[in-house]
Amino acid sequence: MTSVQPVPFIEHACSEQQACHTSAPPLLGAARLYPAPIAAAAAISLATPLADVPGLTPRTAADLATLGLTNVGRLLAHLPMRHERHEAEAPIGSLQVGHIVSARGQITATRLAGRRGKGRFEAVLMDDSGRLDLVWFNQAFMHKKVHPGMRVIVQGTLRTYGQGLQLANPRLEVLKEDAAEPESRDERLRPVYPASEQVPSRTIEWAMARVLPVGLPLLEDHLPEAYRRDRAMPSLADAYRMQHAPESEDEVAAGRRRLAYDELLMLQLGVQMRRAYLRSHLRAPALKMSERIDAHIRERFPFPLTPGQESVVADLVRDLTQPVPTNRLIQGDVGAGKTIVALYAMLMAVASEHQAALMAPTELLAEQHFASISRVLAGSRVRIELLTGAIKGDERASILARLGDGEIDILVGTHALLTEKVRFKSLAVAIVDEQHRFGVHQRAALRVKAEDERSTPHLLVMTATPIPRTLTISLLGDLDVSVIDGLPPGRQPIATRVVPPDKRAEVFDFLRTRVERGEQAYVVVPSIESDELESVENIRRELEEGPLAGRRISAVHGRLSPATRAAAMERFRGGSTDVLMATTVIEVGVDVPNATVMVILNADRFGLAQLHQLRGRVGRGDKPSVCVLVAEATTDDATLRLDAVRDTADGFKLAEKDWEIRGPGELFGTRQSGAATFRVADLSRDIDLLQMARRDATAWIERSPTLHAPAEALLRRRLFKAFGQTLGLVDVG
Ligand code: ADP
Ligand code: MG
Repeated sequence: MTSVQPVPFIEHACSEQQACHTSAPPLLGAARLYPAPIAAAAAISLATPLADVPGLTPRTAADLATLGLTNVGRLLAHLPMRHERHEAEAPIGSLQVGHIVSARGQITATRLAGRRGKGRFEAVLMDDSGRLDLVWFNQAFMHKKVHPGMRVIVQGTLRTYGQGLQLANPRLEVLKEDAAEPESRDERLRPVYPASEQVPSRTIEWAMARVLPVGLPLLEDHLPEAYRRDRAMPSLADAYRMQHAPESEDEVAAGRRRLAYDELLMLQLGVQMRRAYLRSHLRAPALKMSERIDAHIRERFPFPLTPGQESVVADLVRDLTQPVPTNRLIQGDVGAGKTIVALYAMLMAVASEHQAALMAPTELLAEQHFASISRVLAGSRVRIELLTGAIKGDERASILARLGDGEIDILVGTHALLTEKVRFKSLAVAIVDEQHRFGVHQRAALRVKAEDERSTPHLLVMTATPIPRTLTISLLGDLDVSVIDGLPPGRQPIATRVVPPDKRAEVFDFLRTRVERGEQAYVVVPSIESDELESVENIRRELEEGPLAGRRISAVHGRLSPATRAAAMERFRGGSTDVLMATTVIEVGVDVPNATVMVILNADRFGLAQLHQLRGRVGRGDKPSVCVLVAEATTDDATLRLDAVRDTADGFKLAEKDWEIRGPGELFGTRQSGAATFRVADLSRDIDLLQMARRDATAWIERSPTLHAPAEALLRRRLFKAFGQTLGLVDVG
C-alpha cells in the first residue's frame, strides 16, 4: 500500500509563496501564440487564486476549481495528456479525411433541420477548390450566427458523409467583411487536458493562455543552469511552456523529458540519500568468516552449490563481514535455489553466535522452510524454531522466552515475527522470502528488530518475481541486487500447454497415466473466497469418482487449520498421496521434486507471475514435467498471458512481457513495495532517463550526502515534499 502520487513540483512551489515578477519577460513560444500579459494590479504568485488573474473571469475560475485547479501553480501543473495536431489551413479540395483540418471559404447555404433548440444546423462552405458540408447538432443558435455570403474559417475532423466531405460541430470563426483577412494559419499543436464535461479541455486551454505569461516566470528551477546545459535540458519554466504551448513535437518531447527526468531524479536522490544515511548512521554485526566456517556450513548441504548460487554467496560473505548493514535483494527464478543461499547467510550468523530470522509470506511456506531447513540441520547443534500466527499459548510463550535468551539460533516464521513481543537477543541476519508479497513497511519493521537504536541486522530480501532487471534500480533503489543465474543441474524443461475447458477429461486422463508411473501431480483451482472450498471439493470428487478412482488425493486451501494443512502437505511430500488439490496457497515455495504434473484450472483467472510461480512447483526433479493451463481465453489480455507463459520459461523475460501487457502500475501497483507512480515519467519508455537519473543521483549524493548546500535548498524542499514520506526520509533530517 505504498504507492504514492508525487505532488507536482510546481505545486510545492505554489505554497512557497514566492513574490511575483510582474514584469514578465516575453516567453519564447507563448508570446507569439497568446496575448501579451496584462500588467497585474497586485503581485501574482503561484498561490494566487485564479479569480485574481487578470483576464480570467470568476465564472471560469469557479469552473476550474471543480477540477482542483484553484491557483496559478495548480493550473500550471495541470499537464496535457497529449497534443492534437492541427493541420495548416488548406484548400477544401486538398483536405485529408480523418485529419483535423482548417479551411476557409464562403457560406453558400444554410438550413435548420429538426425541432428548434434540439435540431441540427447545416451549412455549406465553398472555396475555389471544392465544397464542404458543415453540421452542428443541438446548436440551433448557430443559425443566428451563420448566414449565406459570410466568409469563415472552420476547423474540425474531416469525415466523408454520403458523397461529400463533412465537418461535424466544427469550430468556426467569422471573418469580418471589411477587415483584412487574417493570414492563413500554420499547423500547430494544441494541448488536450484532462477535463470534465462541465469544464472541457478548451476552457483549460483558454485559461492557460492567460496564466502562462504571468505564471511561468515564477517557476524557480531547482537544477542549476550548468547542470541542465550538460544534459541538454530546458529550464523548468520552458519545460512547462513546452507542454502547454508547444511550437513543435520536438518541444513537446523536450519538455516532457525534463519533467520526467525531474521525477526520476528526485526519487533516486531520495533513495540514495536514505541509503547514505543508513550506511553512515547504522551499524550491523560484522560476522566472522573463515575456511573452517565455510567448510562447516557446506558440510551440511545435500548438494554442491551452482555457479549462480556461489556468486551470490560470495556477495553475501563480502556484505555480512562488514559492520555496515546489508540491504540486498536476491533475485532468482522459481526453483533457482534461493533457500540454500539464505541458509548460508543464516548459518554465518549462527557461527558468530548471533541469531537469524527467515520470514515467509504464508504459513504454508514458513512451515515448508522450517521443515526443509530442519532436515538439512538435523543432528547439528543449531536450534531452530517456527513461529506463525497459529502458534499460541504456552508454546508461543516458550519460543519468545528462548528467543530473548538467545536459546534459539534460527527463527522461521510469517509476519508474526514482526509483532512487538518478538524480541531477539541478537539478531544479525534477517531474511524476507518472496519479498514482493510484503510491503516496504514490513521490511522496515524487521530492520528495527534490534535492541540498540543504532544497530540493525543485515537484511536480505529474496524474490522470484520477476522484477525486470532494468526496473529494480528504480523501484528498490536502496537495495543492492544479486541474481542467481541458472537453475540447479539436472532440471528438465517443463512443457507448457494451453488446453480449452472441454478437453478437461483428456487432461485428467493424462494426469492418471503419470500418476500410474509413480509420479505426483498438482491440480490448482483459483481461490475465490466464496466458492474456493466448493471448487476444490467438487473437483476432488470428480477426480475420485472418475479418472483417479482408487488413487489418493489430498487437498490444501486457506480454510484448513494449519495442522490439517501441514499433515496434507506432509502426506504429499512423503508420497503417500498422489495428487494435491490446492488453491494458490501453494503458489510460492512448495518443493516436492517427485511432482511432475501441474494442472491449473481456470488458468485465465491467474496473473502471469502467479502462473509462472505455480508452474515452478514442478520441474524440480530429474523427470520431465508438464504444466497444463486449462483455460478459455476470454479476454485479449488473458490470451496474451497464457501464450506468454506457454512460450517463455524465463521468469525475467515473462516479467517484462507482463509489464508490456499490464503496464508497470499494475505490476508493481500496491503490491510491489517501494513502487512510486509518476505523473510524467513512464518506466516503459524512460529506461534511459531512469539510468541517467540513477547515475546523476548517485554522484550527487556522494558529493553532498544530505543536500544541505544553500544552492540545494529548493531541490531538497521539493524532494522531501514529493518523496519524504514514502522513503522514510524524515529521520534523515
Ligand atoms: P527457490 O529459488 O524457488 O526458492 P528452492 O530454494 O526452493 O528454490 O530450491 C528448489 C529446489 O532445488 C529444492 O529442491 C532444492 O533442494 C534444490 N536445489 C537448490 N540448489 C540446488 C543445487 N545447487 N543442486 C541441486 N539441487 C538444488
Ligand atoms: Mg523459495
